[in-house]
Amino acid sequence: MDEIAYITTPLYYVNAEPHIGHAYTQIAADTLARYCRQSGKKVFFLTGTDEHGQKIQDAADARGISPREHTDEMVGKFKDLWVKLDISNDGFIRTTDEEHKETVRSLLNKLYEKGEIEKRSYTGWYCVPDERFWREKDLEEGKCPECGREVERIREDNYFFLMSAYQEKLIEYINSNPGYIKPDIRRNEVLGFLKNNRLDDLCISRPKSRLSWGIPLPFDENYVTYVWFDALINYYSATGYIAPPGVNWWPATCHLIGKDILTTHSVYWSTMLMGLGLPLPRKIFAHGWWTITGEKMSKSRGNVIAPLDLVEQWGVNAFRYFLLRQVSFGMDGNFSEEQFISRYETDLANDLGNLLSRVLSMISKYSPSYDPSRPDGFEKLSEDISGDLEELYGELRFSSVLDRIWEIVKSANVYVERSAPWNLAKSDTERLSQVLTSLYETLGCVASLIYPFMPGASAEMNRQLGIEEPGLGIRRWGDAGRFGNIKKGDPLFPKK
Ligand SMILES: [Zn+2]
Repeated sequence: MDEIAYITTPLYYVNAEPHIGHAYTQIAADTLARYCRQSGKKVFFLTGTDEHGQKIQDAADARGISPREHTDEMVGKFKDLWVKLDISNDGFIRTTDEEHKETVRSLLNKLYEKGEIEKRSYTGWYCVPDERFWREKDLEEGKCPECGREVERIREDNYFFLMSAYQEKLIEYINSNPGYIKPDIRRNEVLGFLKNNRLDDLCISRPKSRLSWGIPLPFDENYVTYVWFDALINYYSATGYIAPPGVNWWPATCHLIGKDILTTHSVYWSTMLMGLGLPLPRKIFAHGWWTITGEKMSKSRGNVIAPLDLVEQWGVNAFRYFLLRQVSFGMDGNFSEEQFISRYETDLANDLGNLLSRVLSMISKYSPSYDPSRPDGFEKLSEDISGDLEELYGELRFSSVLDRIWEIVKSANVYVERSAPWNLAKSDTERLSQVLTSLYETLGCVASLIYPFMPGASAEMNRQLGIEEPGLGIRRWGDAGRFGNIKKGDPLFPKK
């Protein structure tokens, strides 16, 4: 078991407002980070913003303000949203941080001195909004294959990172490290791409005459650094000035990304690190996309889900639960309001919320004694799941973890019906104490198990159960305590 966990999200590009895709990566990374802390690891969970490049300059120009003013404002929006989504990041990096810029320049120098960077004259098709050169054969009907817009024929001198030299080495690396790119479908995609295409060298500069909003190349001040080259380095640069000191945080434990940025991470970033002689991250995990009732989310369709609207209506706990429960992480998911409501009512309000409220009511009403010495089978359920968590979280199988937790919740509900405490209250107080203690302890375990997914609901369960100092670890049988402090409160997930 790794003692430390360094978990990252992508740096979000601040040319537009945050949407559900950003929230999804963020919540998944947060859940993983919270579990790692819960299991006793030292955690550094990093997120941040990508702030250089043409699109940022354009967005600022369009608003008649400086790129810096634009990015400061957008960064505020992202940070606010993370607070509202209960994101527990330990660090927030901005690519405009002086320390980051210095790291980028020093790594560029290192590559340049090693002969990994070369100046060349280049003629190619360039998509201005995407800041990307395309080969003739990549174009689709003469237009940018990524965004479908017009491309420009550009001839200019630029600096290239000699990425093509690493093609075979990267294939070998991926083959010998089956856990490096996950899920397997993405790994196979990258391998297929590498085996069937010749890897180009990577243009890493933009002439200042065309774009000034970027990090100047240390060896040629007439150029700024290509925005991806700058942004990817954040994962490494943050370990030097944002991460808690005294720990070797590099290589990262897991880069969580969306599948749209798989190539930049698995190919650009991996070969950049190879060029620098730095270790590669342990895992790159690319998750899928959300469609809305079967359609791709887009501004023109007017079906963009604003995370905050859902949070305001249903609460942050339900929002986090739904995203990680509804689809197995890595696959694409479909978002529909009916499914959201159904999950809310069935899993959260009925299965979990009702169970808590019923058990606490019965304990108040029948005043049983607290007797954890005869657990009636439930200690086994929570022991079993505890033994599997490391593997399930290690593979980012969030929905499987929730399935397992809900098996416990559902069997507790069946147990209530079958043991009928309302009858035992009249006939067998010893058995009544055994049953209600079992249910109470089970709820204590569940409160700690749901913590990574729904930290707020977990805290409220602890409060109502009267567990005053819940601690961070996963609760074991008999840890929950006494009946004495129970404070029954409002429903955990009120019916809407
Ligand atoms: Zn384009």
